[in-house]
Amino acid sequence: MTDPDFVPFALPDIGDDEIAEVVDTLRSGWLTTGPKARRFEQAFGEFLGAPGLHCLAVNSATAGLHLALEALGIGPGDEVITTTHTFTATAEVVRYLGADVRLVDIDPATLCLDVDAVARAIGPRTKAVIPVHFAGRAAAMAPLLALARRHGLKVVEDAAHALPTSSGGRRIGTLDSEACVFSFYANKTITTGEGGMVVVRDPALAKRIGVMRLHGMSRDAFDRFHTRVPAWYYEIVAPGYKYNLTDLAAALGLQQLRRAQALRERRAAIAARYDAAFAALPVQRPPQAEPGDEHAWHLYVLRLAAGAPCDRDTLVERLFAAGIGCSVHYIPLHLQPYWRERYALQPAQFPHSQAAYEASLSLPLYPSMREDQVARVIAAVQAALAGG
Ligand SMILES: *Cc1c(COP(=O)(O)O)cnc(C)c1O
Repeated sequence: MTDPDFVPFALPDIGDDEIAEVVDTLRSGWLTTGPKARRFEQAFGEFLGAPGLHCLAVNSATAGLHLALEALGIGPGDEVITTTHTFTATAEVVRYLGADVRLVDIDPATLCLDVDAVARAIGPRTKAVIPVHFAGRAAAMAPLLALARRHGLKVVEDAAHALPTSSGGRRIGTLDSEACVFSFYANKTITTGEGGMVVVRDPALAKRIGVMRLHGMSRDAFDRFHTRVPAWYYEIVAPGYKYNLTDLAAALGLQQLRRAQALRERRAAIAARYDAAFAALPVQRPPQAEPGDEHAWHLYVLRLAAGAPCDRDTLVERLFAAGIGCSVHYIPLHLQPYWRERYALQPAQFPHSQAAYEASLSLPLYPSMREDQVARVIAAVQAALAGG
């Protein structure tokens, strides 16, 4: 941290407008869920740009995934299919509800779940599937949605990386899934520090999620305290959760959302520079979006190819020694003790995820990277892969 030249792996891009909006909230007298959370939800729907969407702000994507599955009635005895190549949040929410997780391998061409593997994993208890739009590149949604329809499965998209991403020319968040959940964690494509958004189309689903995100109250706190009529009365209709997004966080979100497209263009430009610079190296560059589709470029995941002069761990060490922070996305769930032991998982069941994990690292990719920092990352990768 003391090296001023160190290029961190990730940094949020917070400008004066974000700061002013937060200060405005601090001075407004309303800190928790209120007018700014409402405006953020409305602006989010407008950004996605499809009619009839219900956007529900929550305090994390994890909370949003939990609420979506709860509202869809997932519970004990049910099974939910998802990819092993993800963060544990995608799968843990299934266990919150007492249902079981069925992990499947990825398609190495996209690093997203393999739809054929999903088809093979469907059994009598399967109720839902959770695709992850890995790194900001859409999963194969058309075949997945068709498969889900044939088998009566619910689809909840983990869109934590996917703002903005499109699939088949339609923005993620507007497809025919039951729910789509975005993350505004500190290192995501837009941030509220911690936060998330659940997008659904079914009004009944929206109502259940709205009730369950705040204690199971029949009307939310903002309604109660802001109406001009006496409004002390509320009813508890379920043992709900404490998953609401504060106005302080929503203030950040409002200004980040305004810049979401510009932030994406900057990340895409850096990714294109990396792609060009690494073309001749013994690496596999990240999966691109389908022609005509948009890639959010949340992560730039490089995979070492056969013939690379060093392994992944050595490359990470060399880059760190050169003052560059990297990460690995992800240590697949089948290697994590909890998941491995609960479901007796073996790497051989997930050969593509295992191979991607062993060969991949994520390079710094964020809008506030300066050109000289991008050049330093490129030079360091080239130097590390030049000789043994
Ligand atoms: C970040 C992330 C989450 C969890 O998001 P939170 O907002 O931190 O709860 C879920 N899934 C994936 C793939 C993520 O990267």
